[in-house]
Amino acid sequence: MRPPLLNPLFAPLTSLPGVGPKFARLYARLLGRPVPYLADLLFHLPSGTIDRRARPKLSQVRDGQLVTVAVTVDEHHPAPRHRPRAPYRVITSDETGFTLTLAYFNAREDYLRRLLPPGSRRYVSGVAQFYDGMLQMVHPDRIVDEKGFADLPLVEPVYPLTEGLTLGHVRRLMKEALARLPTLPEWQDAAWLARERLPSFGEALHRLHRPSAPNQVAPDSPAWRRLAYDELLAGQLALALLRARMRRRAGRGSSGSGELRARVLKALPYALTPSQQKALTEIVADLARPQQMLRLLQGDVGSGKTVVALLAAATVIEAGRQAAFMAPTEILARQHWTTVAPLAEAAGIRVALLTGRERGAERRAVLDRLARGEIDLLLGTHVLFQEGVVFRDLGLAIVDEQHRFGVHQRLALAQKGAAADMLVLTATPIPRTLVLTYFGDMDISELREKPRGRRPVDTRAVSLARLSEVEDAIGRALEAGERAYWVCPLVEDSEKTDLAAAAARFAKLRERFGDRVDLVHGRMKGAEKDAAMARFASGRTRLLVATTVIEVGIDVPDATVMVIEHAERFGLAQLHQLRGRVGRGGGASTCLLLYKAPLGETARARLAVLRETEDGFRIAEEDLRLRGEGDVLGTRQSGDPAFRIVRLESHGRYVSAAREDAALILKRDPMLAGPRGQALRLLLYLFGKDEAIGLIRAG
Ligand code: ADP
Ligand code: MG
Repeated sequence: MRPPLLNPLFAPLTSLPGVGPKFARLYARLLGRPVPYLADLLFHLPSGTIDRRARPKLSQVRDGQLVTVAVTVDEHHPAPRHRPRAPYRVITSDETGFTLTLAYFNAREDYLRRLLPPGSRRYVSGVAQFYDGMLQMVHPDRIVDEKGFADLPLVEPVYPLTEGLTLGHVRRLMKEALARLPTLPEWQDAAWLARERLPSFGEALHRLHRPSAPNQVAPDSPAWRRLAYDELLAGQLALALLRARMRRRAGRGSSGSGELRARVLKALPYALTPSQQKALTEIVADLARPQQMLRLLQGDVGSGKTVVALLAAATVIEAGRQAAFMAPTEILARQHWTTVAPLAEAAGIRVALLTGRERGAERRAVLDRLARGEIDLLLGTHVLFQEGVVFRDLGLAIVDEQHRFGVHQRLALAQKGAAADMLVLTATPIPRTLVLTYFGDMDISELREKPRGRRPVDTRAVSLARLSEVEDAIGRALEAGERAYWVCPLVEDSEKTDLAAAAARFAKLRERFGDRVDLVHGRMKGAEKDAAMARFASGRTRLLVATTVIEVGIDVPDATVMVIEHAERFGLAQLHQLRGRVGRGGGASTCLLLYKAPLGETARARLAVLRETEDGFRIAEEDLRLRGEGDVLGTRQSGDPAFRIVRLESHGRYVSAAREDAALILKRDPMLAGPRGQALRLLLYLFGKDEAIGLIRAG
C-alpha cells in the first residue's frame, strides 16, 4: 500500500482544474504514461528557460534583445482604414525620452485600450527590434501593471511539448502541481547532501520549475543533480533488492567432465573463434562456482553467441540439470529451434520448443516431460517463464536480447529456478556505466571479433524526396536476382500505426513489383509470419516489407539490400541491428537510410556515425553520447522505463555512488524499516519501483 502521504502526487492529472479527456490524452503522450500522475508531470523537467531579466532603459536596448522594460503609454494608432493589414501601433516611452512602438497585427482595439490605457505605466516584456530606425516590439509576450510585475517570473521555464499543448498550459499545470507537493521526509544522507550542496526534494522541484536564474535548470545544477541522484538511488535500491532476492540461495556449482560439450563441439562444422573460446572458459568457470552466475554475453550480430550459449547449456546439462533458452520473439525462438536443436540432438541433448503457439496436448506433453526431467534444454519465448511451466531442476536460464525484457520477466525467471545461473545474450554493446545502472553487478563476456563472413555494407543516407529513385534501384536489384528488406518506421510507439505505414508501402511496392513483394509485421499470426519469412528465405519472394519485427536475429544470408524508411526515427543501435541483416553472404550489400528532410543536428550526426562505422561498440558509445541512455537499451519497449531525470552524460559519476549507497543502506536496514528506510520507501514509490517494495515484504 502506497503511503497516504504520497496521495497528492499520485492523483491523476485530470484531478487538476481544466484537464479534461482531451488534455489527459495530450499529457499521456507528452509524459509517456497512459494515466499520468502529478508526480509524472513534476518529473517533466524544463529543457531551458526564457530569460526576461534584462531590464534596460529604452535608450540602452539592443537590436533583437529580449527585454523587460518599464514604459508609459502615450498614444494608440489603429491601422489606417485603407491599409487593414498594417499593424495597430501603441507608442510608449520612458524617462530617457526614447520611444518603443508596440505593434499588433489583427488587433482588437477595445482589448488593447483596456490593456494599455494612455498615460498608464506598464511593464512590457518581449523581443525589441529596430525597424526603420525606430525601436519596436511585435506582439509583446507579457504586459503587466505594477501589481502584476511583482508576480511576473523573469525567468520562465521552457518544456518539451507535444503537438496540441502550449507552453502556457504546461506552466499553469506545473504551478498547480507544485502547490500540491507535500513536504516529504528526507531520504538522502544529510551529511552527503550538505557536502554536495544539494537541496531537498521539494526545494529541487521548486527551483527547477520556478527558476530564478537560467543555470538553475541545467542538468548539472544542484537541483537537477539532487533529483537525478534520487532517481539513481531508487533504481539501484530496486536492483539491489532484486539481486538480494535472486541471490537469496547461493547457487549450485555445475560442472562435469566436459564430455557433452566436446560432443557439441564435434557436431559443429567449424571451430570456435578465440573470443568464443575465451567467453566459454569464463562461463564454464563461473558455472562451476557455488554462487549464482549473472553474466552478460555481448557480441555483435553474427558474432556467434548462440553456440556459446548452447555450450554453456551443455555444461549444466552434463551436471544433470536443465537449461532454458528464451528468445524475445516467436520468429527468433523458431530460428533457434532450427539451428540449435539439430546440434543439441547430435550431442544427445533432449530439446523441446515451447512458445505461445504450442497449445493443448502438445503443450501438456512438453510440460510433463519438462517436469519429469526428460527435457534437457527448453527453447522458446517468454512463455518459458510463465506459471505452469515447471522445471525439474533448472540450472541455467539463457536470455537472448535481454534489453527487450523488463524487470517482470527477470523476476519471473529468478523465481523459476531458485538460483538458476543466468546468461544474457545481447547484440547491443552496452557501455559499462549502463550495465551497472540497469543490471547491477553483472559480469561481462565479450565476443569482439568481427562476425564471420561479414562484408562491409555500403551505407547511404537518402532523402525521402528521392523515393522514386530508390524504387528504381530496388527494381534493378530485383532484376539482378537480389533480395531486399524494406523496413517501415515506428510511428508513435503504436503497432497499429506501424502497421498502417507498412501496409501502405507494401501496397505501393506490390503494385510496381508484383508478387515478388511480401509483407511481415508484428500483428500477423505466428504461422503466417513463419510462412512469410520462409518464402523470403527460399527466394520465392524477393522484397520483404517489414515492421521492426525483423530487427533482431533474422538470418537470410542471400539478402543484400536493406532499405530503412524514416531512418531518423530509429535509434542508432536499432539501425545497426537492421543493417546487420545484410552483408552476411557473398555479395556486396547496400543499406539505404531514407530520411525525411530537413534533418535535425542530432539526427544528421547519428546517420553520419552509421555511414562511418560498422563497429557496434563504437556505435553504442556514440548512441549514448547523442541520445542519452534510455534509447540505447531500447528500454522503452521493455517496460523498464528510461530515466526521466538522469542524463548519464551529466550524472554518470553518480551511478556507482548510488550503487554503493544502496548496498550500504540495505546492509544496515534490509527491511527498510527504520526512519530513513521508511523515507526511502517513499522514494521507491515516487520512481515507480513498487515492485521492489513487494520484494521487501516478501523477504
Ligand atoms: P549472434 O551472435 O548474432 O546470435 P549467431 O550465433 O546466430 O550470431 O551466429 C551467426 C552465424 O555464425 C551462424 O550461422 C553460426 O552458425 C555461425 N558461427 C558461429 N560461430 C562460428 C565460428 N566459430 N566459425 C564459423 N561460423 C560460426
Ligand atoms: Mg542471436
